[in-house]
Order: sequence, then C-alpha cells, then structure tokens
Amino acid sequence: MRGYPFAAALAAALLIAGAGAAPAQDFGPIQVRTTELAPGVHLLQGAGGNVLACAGDGKLLLIDADYEQMADKLLAATAALAAGPVALVVATHWHFDHVGGFAALADAGAVLAAHASVRDWMAAPQHLDVLDHDVPASPPSALPGICVGDTLTLRWGDETVGLRHVAGHTGGDLVAHLHRADVVHAGDLFFNCGYPYIDTAHGGSIDGMIRGVEYVLSLCGPATRIVPGHGPLASPDELRVYLGILEEYRRIVAAEKAAGRSLEEVVAARPAAALDEQWGRAMFPPEAFIEMIWLSTP
Ligand SMILES: [Zn+2]
Repeated sequence: MRGYPFAAALAAALLIAGAGAAPAQDFGPIQVRTTELAPGVHLLQGAGGNVLACAGDGKLLLIDADYEQMADKLLAATAALAAGPVALVVATHWHFDHVGGFAALADAGAVLAAHASVRDWMAAPQHLDVLDHDVPASPPSALPGICVGDTLTLRWGDETVGLRHVAGHTGGDLVAHLHRADVVHAGDLFFNCGYPYIDTAHGGSIDGMIRGVEYVLSLCGPATRIVPGHGPLASPDELRVYLGILEEYRRIVAAEKAAGRSLEEVVAARPAAALDEQWGRAMFPPEAFIEMIWLSTP
C-alpha cells in the first residue's frame, strides 16, 4: 500500500519543493524569522527545517540549511547577525528541507558536515517511502566533505557543541547539543506540530525515533530549550508529551499487527482517533503515520 492519494498534495504542501513532478511550493512570501536563544545563538525559521546559528571567534556555525530555494534569504539572515561568515554547516540528516542550502553555503565559503551516510544518500537518486516521491541526486558542490561517525565535539568560540549519531527519523541523524547555551537541536526526531515523517527507506524506524527522543531528553535539564526539526521551540516537558504519543501509537499498531490485522484494516479502524484530533491535522495524517510505524515494526 504505497502512494496514498494525498501523497502528491501533501508532498507539495509540506516537503517537496520544485523537485520531481510535484508542483513547486511558493517560497516568495516566506521570510526567515530570527530569535535569539542565548548570546551568539539564534534560531532561524524559514520554510523548511529549523536552523540554529552559533557565533564564535568571528564566524558562524549553522545546524541545518533549509530548502535550496531559501538559500539567499538564509544567507541574508546570517549576514544580519553581524557575527562573521558561515564557516561550517552541520546537517541533522539528508532531507532536502534541511540540506537544500548546502551548495549555496559552500559557494559562499562554508565547509559542510553530516553523518557519514548523508553524503552517500545525497550523491545518488533516492525514493521516499509513504510519500512515494523521487529525490534527485544533489550536485557535487552540495555534498558534505566532513563525514561524522558516532560522535564529534566542536569548540566554537565559547561554545562546546556535541554531535551524536542516532538512527531514528533516518539512519543518519545527528543531534546537536550546545552545552553553554543549554540548547539541543533534535532535527526531525521531533516534529513539534504533528505526527512526524519516518524515513523507513533510509534506516528510520519508530523504535529508533523513540530511542532518539529518549537520548535528547537525557541531555536536557529543566531549562533546556529544544529546537525541533519542524514547529516551535519546545521545553523538555513538551518533548515528553510527544514521546508518549510515539510510544502509545507504536504500542497500538504493533498490537494490531500481532493480532493479524492488515495495514488497511488498522487504518480503517482509526485506533487512536483521540490522538489524531490533535496530532493528525497539521503535518502527516494518521494513515501515513500508521503506515510508517507499520513498515518499521516487526
Ligand atoms: Zn526529515
């Protein structure tokens, strides 16, 4: 059961920007909103994944890089911080709404980094499960030259940035922990606006999402600010609510599967209708979320 009727419209509205056959999203009116989280640390919110900027020693570190079509606006937003050029960009994962600005940022002098698997996935055409969408290969200039293994620690001015690989939303997610600012960028392990996408074709799974969120929570103190991949800045308590929803839905779908029901029967039964009311409207609808859990549970 692939390629839901809603997939094309959903892809056009949420994720797919001018790639493949889906109609292009109109980026014209979308601006980058800048919010200071700590001295020298800013959240930049444009059209795609949330971007974190960290200033140190006259240069900027970015975590993620929005869509390709937002690159000029992202560069303008970083210039407005008056903290020097973007020297290094780290991707939380390979999706085009997070690495779309890579080629433009590299052209502007930045070095690109990501988990080791990201370069391989970006270098060749890919296909996204559930959305049934083809993703073209990225140009060589967009490919990260620094391939991160399990962990990497960056000293960036006064800030210490811990990067840690987890396999959750994809098989190549990086969580970024800014110790001094007490900020964590969770990437798409955390959709703070609705049910998440899980990239089951590239190593993502519901169990990995749950473990990844538990890891993010393990980094948090009571005042930690969490940058989700999508949606507004969040507290640890808000991330705990989201974790509970992942666990509950995983339990329900796994139980239905173990009872011998088909994916179509589970979708039709609406087994978590109360959760769907709140979480199944803004991003991915319950039938898509159920399929992603189904694809990644035994
Ligand atoms: Zn993603």
